Amino acid sequence: MKSSPSPAASSAPPAGPRRRARVAEPDTVSRVMHLLLFIGAAMILAVWAMELHEGVINPWDRWMQPLLALVVGGAAVLMVWRPTLDPVLRPLPVLSFNLYLIVTLHMTLLYGSGPQQWYQTLTALYWVPLAYGCGFVFLRQRMALLVCTFTATGIFLPMLVWWQRGQLPAWTHEHGPLLVIVAMSHVMYVLLLWAVIKLRDSHADARDSAERMRTLAATDVLTGLPNRRSMLDTLATALAESRRSGQPLTIALVDVDHFKAVNDQHGHAQGDAVLMQIGACMRAQLRAVDGLARWGGEEFLICATATPLAAAVELAERVRVAVSACPMPHGEQVTISLGLTPCEPGDDVDTLLQRADHALYEAKARGRNRSVTRTREQERSDAARPASMATQGLTTP
Ligand code: GH3
Ligand code: MG
Ligand code: MG
Repeated sequence: MKSSPSPAASSAPPAGPRRRARVAEPDTVSRVMHLLLFIGAAMILAVWAMELHEGVINPWDRWMQPLLALVVGGAAVLMVWRPTLDPVLRPLPVLSFNLYLIVTLHMTLLYGSGPQQWYQTLTALYWVPLAYGCGFVFLRQRMALLVCTFTATGIFLPMLVWWQRGQLPAWTHEHGPLLVIVAMSHVMYVLLLWAVIKLRDSHADARDSAERMRTLAATDVLTGLPNRRSMLDTLATALAESRRSGQPLTIALVDVDHFKAVNDQHGHAQGDAVLMQIGACMRAQLRAVDGLARWGGEEFLICATATPLAAAVELAERVRVAVSACPMPHGEQVTISLGLTPCEPGDDVDTLLQRADHALYEAKARGRNRSVTRTREQERSDAARPASMATQGLTTP
């Protein structure tokens, strides 16, 4: 054997869904693998054609290389054509490539003669670690370890036994110990790859759990909505974006009316169920770009990006009407009050929230089940007047 197939020929990807998700998106892994298999098959054929043309091909490779290309390329075609066969077919190219190497090496050792055979044996051995690498990249950890162990044992055990018994051909005698050294290095390759994959998996585990923790830290347990911490980040980002782009931004603080009575009359569990229902009902009324978070207790916060105050008032009204019409787990109607305020030049998250809070307070004071707006101008003029004369915001009845 003068040369070996491309490592791509031995590529076979992961099987389990957990592993697939770790390596990359399943579709991406499959596409990469199919591409590698096609390239591998093409390279095997190219080597075969070149050796044939140069007249250096041995009788074994004359038939085996096209067969190997057929198996590798055929597996790729089948995987693309019938994606359901993908997991079943994945080990096939790896196993074929490994078997080809095992048999080729033994045939060279047993039936070859002269220094040219020694050269061919060593060039084949160079490729084996590549086969190990492909196995570990594309197969599941255990399967890869199994295949690599099988390959290394299949290659070296007979060699070592023949060497010990003095049955190896004469042309190997001079460099016999080299086989032992190469065999040892292959054991190290397999162990090293296995350790790398173990480290990669434990790193992936740590990354997954960090991701889970991040999601948990940003989510309200009861409603599944983003929590206050997450909304504070959203607000800061939305505010910065609004300043940069000049797009309007309006927020609305929402509070459930007389919610304590729901708890008192129907129990805390029913109260929880009502909060979940309100959250879902509000979310259904908002655009995907609008933020909605559980702000705390029975309060929610809406962050309406690219929305001027007038449009936000319409949106708030839609949400208010939807909640009051929403069937609740305890069988009674529930209403909400909303305090709206637009983002104005010089605002930061605190001033925005403060105005929304004042607007909500006013909505409650005016009888609840309504939305009230508050601008900075209103805040200023109210601050300048006695409380009894304070201007009232835009409200819904
Ligand atoms: P208002 O219309 O003035 O807002 O009246 P309210 O009864 O809604 O307001 P109040 O602040 O008096 O009561 C809020 C209640 O919300 C009290 C608290 O026990 C209840 N609450 C806060 N968080 C939760 C929760 O997670 N689950 C349940 N079931 N109740 C909660
Ligand atoms: Mg409240
Ligand atoms: Mg309330």
